[in-house]
Amino acid sequence: MDWHFRSRSQQCNECETAFEDEQPYHTILFRGMESLERRDICPGCWDKNHKAEPGKTDGYISHWQGVYEVPPPPPPEAIQKDNAETLLKKMIEQNDPEHTEACFILAVMLERKRVIKNKDQVRQEDGKRMLIYEHTKNGDVFTILDPALKLTNLGQVQAKVSNLLEHGLNPQTETLPEEESADGSTEDKADAPAQEPEAATATANEH
Ligand SMILES: [Zn+2]
Repeated sequence: MDWHFRSRSQQCNECETAFEDEQPYHTILFRGMESLERRDICPGCWDKNHKAEPGKTDGYISHWQGVYEVPPPPPPEAIQKDNAETLLKKMIEQNDPEHTEACFILAVMLERKRVIKNKDQVRQEDGKRMLIYEHTKNGDVFTILDPALKLTNLGQVQAKVSNLLEHGLNPQTETLPEEESADGSTEDKADAPAQEPEAATATANEH
């Protein structure tokens, strides 16, 4: 699957005129050679080239109209802890089928908070539903596969998502070898609990 972010262009992809703040534009989402692609188009080019038949683009999936906003300055580097948004982006970039369900839950969470917006959904050849989302502020577009979660699995997936939010996507399991000083002082490490090798194997007794 083509799980990639496609950021919004800052100019029309056809006439290359830069977008201005708060101007309307159109997006066509289509299947490119290898992945999902988008084309952002100014109203002039839209009227001229697409309006009559938006679906004639090769590999056409969907289209919509948006309003361009000048992107905000990037957040300060200091903020490193993952939130639902950064976590979802990382997981989409990793493109690991193991995260399909977690991605879906995060997308639902973010949609509820209106951080992202569902633009369309497409039924794939295999019958699965692909949801197309757009970030409401920066216009990033990405797809999420609907894992058709069963209610009975929901709690488990939600627990996994909470765990990811708390500990990050790839927690460093390899800690640096403990430096024991030559004189054998052990004051710091006495009570460190043994690392649980696989949290998932623990049976869920807690609520
Ligand atoms: Zn144009």
